[in-house]
Amino acid sequence: MTTPLYHVGLDVGGSSMKGGVVDDTGRALSAVSLPTEAHRGQEFGLERMCETIRAAVKQAGLSMDRIASIGVATPGLMDIPAGVILDPPNLKPWQNVPVRRHIADVFGLPTAFQNDANAAAMGEFWAGAGRGVRSLGLFTLGTGVGGGIVLDGKVLEGRHSHGAELGHIIIDMSNPRRCGCGRLGCLEAYASANSVVLRTREALDKDGGRSALHRLKEELSARAIFDAAAKGDELAARIVEETALYLAVGATCLMHTIDPDMIVFGGGMIAAGPAFLERIRHHVRARAFPVPAERTQVRYAELGSDAGFIGAAACGRLLLDGAARTGARRAEG
Ligand SMILES: [Zn+2]
Repeated sequence: MTTPLYHVGLDVGGSSMKGGVVDDTGRALSAVSLPTEAHRGQEFGLERMCETIRAAVKQAGLSMDRIASIGVATPGLMDIPAGVILDPPNLKPWQNVPVRRHIADVFGLPTAFQNDANAAAMGEFWAGAGRGVRSLGLFTLGTGVGGGIVLDGKVLEGRHSHGAELGHIIIDMSNPRRCGCGRLGCLEAYASANSVVLRTREALDKDGGRSALHRLKEELSARAIFDAAAKGDELAARIVEETALYLAVGATCLMHTIDPDMIVFGGGMIAAGPAFLERIRHHVRARAFPVPAERTQVRYAELGSDAGFIGAAACGRLLLDGAARTGARRAEG
């Protein structure tokens, strides 16, 4: 006889945080978003995290005594084993925030702490595109390029909490672009939504007014560029094709490093649709070693912006032993 138990996941972002209750199969029972308001300071931020967790439990129609574990995901820089956010560029002015200890103390529950992109990879692994595989690498394509790796069911955190910084795989050394991280030639400097817009602006400056995108100049977005490409705009189509190639180079580097079952692309840019994914696959097949080129699945993520909190919940759940995970021990007691 088992009593179903639930897990809360919380995904803290620069502008908002999203929390939800997840059941033992990875299904979300609730999803609550509250503004992070990082400028109000880290004490406020920690209280806002607790508030979001309570709201998620309430929205799921549960009480806290049905919750077995909590997982919290945040952007870096961080010390994952210590459970501390160090100096996060997206959460200024927070510094050295003991997230895991605070949440564990307030709720008295096993609490996991994880990098947000790692958590998203874990979410897709547990309940999204990666259900049933043993290993995957996730690239999230937003304003930047995030990354996460799950190997045999475990997040690859790295020795210094810097594992799976896939946006900063260096893909160009001959004429490298400057990345948001300050370094040269990173994937993010070519294939994030911001970089796609920047590359397009540069191309428009040289195109003699032919592309329909000239009309959009100030409102140019990755979305508009992908739309124009789909409608046959030559310049836009070239940018999109190059972006698919850059992502394929990043994916191939990862495949040749960890040889995963699956590469997953997530984030806002996957709204570009199946044709874009097909171009990435094409370039992966052309560049990777024959066996991984043929066998590695290359897919889009399935959980959207829920991946982070679902993955954070998965990390919390992994802190429990098998019996506690499904509620068996609590029922026996
Ligand atoms: Zn970089």
